[in-house]
Amino acid sequence: MRVLIVGAGIGGLTTALALRQVGFDAHVYEQAGVLREVGAGVAISPNAVKVLHRLGLAEALRTVGVVSRSLDSRDWRTGALLGRVPLAEAAVDRWGAPFYHLHRADLHDALRAAFGDRDLTLGARCVAVEQGDGAVTAHFADGRAATGELLVGADGIHSVAREHVAGPDRAIWSRQISWRGLAPAVVGRESGLEARHHSFWGPRAQFVCFYVAAGRLVNWVGNTQSDDDWREESWSARGDRDELLVRCAEWHPQVRTLIAGTEQVFKWALFDRPPLATWTRGRVTLVGDAAHPMLPYMAQGASQSIEDALVLARCLAAERADPPRAIESYAARRRERTAAIQAASRDAGRLVQLTDPAEIQARNARLGADAEAPVARFDWIWSYDVEQAALAGPA
Ligand SMILES: Cc1cc2nc3c(=O)[nH]c(=O)nc-3n(C[C@H](O)[C@H](O)[C@H](O)COP(=O)(O)OP(=O)(O)OC[C@H]3O[C@@H](n4cnc5c(N)ncnc54)[C@H](O)[C@@H]3O)c2cc1C
Repeated sequence: MRVLIVGAGIGGLTTALALRQVGFDAHVYEQAGVLREVGAGVAISPNAVKVLHRLGLAEALRTVGVVSRSLDSRDWRTGALLGRVPLAEAAVDRWGAPFYHLHRADLHDALRAAFGDRDLTLGARCVAVEQGDGAVTAHFADGRAATGELLVGADGIHSVAREHVAGPDRAIWSRQISWRGLAPAVVGRESGLEARHHSFWGPRAQFVCFYVAAGRLVNWVGNTQSDDDWREESWSARGDRDELLVRCAEWHPQVRTLIAGTEQVFKWALFDRPPLATWTRGRVTLVGDAAHPMLPYMAQGASQSIEDALVLARCLAAERADPPRAIESYAARRRERTAAIQAASRDAGRLVQLTDPAEIQARNARLGADAEAPVARFDWIWSYDVEQAALAGPA
C-alpha cells in the first residue's frame, strides 16, 4: 500500500519510518526545498524514547542525546531548588527508558538517515487534498500531484490536510511568547550550570535550560506573557537580546549569563487549538501538530507525534485490507490521551503566568513541599508505553 505523508518534520519522518518497518510503501512530501530542522533543543521523554528505540534509533540517540541528571524547579531570583525530578538511571527505572535532551537537528538528522532520501520529495508544498474511489491525491503548489491509497497529514499546526479532514478553523493565540537561544556549553559551565533540566519559576515567566548536542550547547527557552500584539509564529523570527536582558534584570545570574552569551536570540508566539473531534476523513488522517497542537509547557508536542506514528503503523498493519477502518481505529486510540495532554499543557501555562506574589509563593512552596509530588505529576505521560497501552485490545 502506498502512503503519502505530507510534512517531513519529526512527526512525518517518524511516521514514515514506522510505516516502512511494517511493510508499507511510505513517501514523504515536504514543502521546504532544503530539509533542515531549526536550531533549538527538544526534550524527548521516555514514552517517546521507547518508540524511537523500537524504530532502531537507540544508538543514534545515545550518540547525540544528553542524559540530564534531573529536572529541577528553581526560584527565578535566588536559584534555590524548589523541587527535583530525578532523571538519568532513575528515569529508566521508573519510566522504562532514558529521558533525552536533544538538538532538534540531531533528532531530525537521525530520523532522516534512518529513512533515507529515496522516498522523500522536497520542494513539494501541498495545497489541496482530493479523494476518489479507493485513492487519495495530494496536489502541490507547482502543479505536480501524487496519488496513493492513504494520506497522512504531518504538516504542522497550519495543516492543509487538517482543513481537508475537519474544515477550516484558526489556531488560537495564547498571548504568550517564547524567547529562545543556544549558548555555547562553555557559557553554561563557567556559570556553574549543572547537566540538569533547569526550570526557573518567576512572575509571569519561566526560564528553562538544558545541555544538548552531546553537551556542546545549552538550549534555553524563556516563556512569558506578551505585552503587545506581536504574534509571529516562526522558528526564525529574531528577538532582541538586549531587550530580553532588560526584562530579566532581576533574574538569577545563570539566566542572564546564558542570554548574554547567546549570539542569536529568537522569538516565537505560542498557539494551540482545542482538541479535534474528527481526525480522519475517508483515506486521510493526521499526526503530530496537525492533529493536536499544544502549548510547550509539558514539552510533549514532538513526543506525542512520535507516539502517533507507532500507533498508526500498528493499526494499519492490523487492518491492511481496510485503511479507512484502520485509521479510525488509530484515531480512537489517540484522541483521549492527546486531548488530556493539550489540556495539561494549557494548565501548566497558567501556572507559569501567575502575577500575584501570594499565588507565586504558594505555587513555589507546593513545588517543594513533597519530593514525590513533582515526580508523580509526570507518571501518566512518561510511563506510557504505546505498545501496551494503546495497542492492546480493540479500540
Ligand atoms: C518553544 C517550543 C518548545 C518546544 N519544546 C518541545 C519539547 O521540549 N518537547 C516536545 O516533545 N515538543 C516540544 N515542542 C513542540 C514540538 O516542537 C512540536 O510539537 C513538533 O515539532 C511537531 O512536529 P510535527 O512534525 O507534527 O510538526 P512540525 O515540526 O511543524 O513539522 C511540519 C512539517 O511539515 C512541513 N509542511 C507544512 N505545511 C506543509 C505543506 N502544505 N506541504 C508540505 N509540507 C508542509 C513543514 O515545513 C515541516 O517540515 C516545542 C514547541 C515550541 C514552540
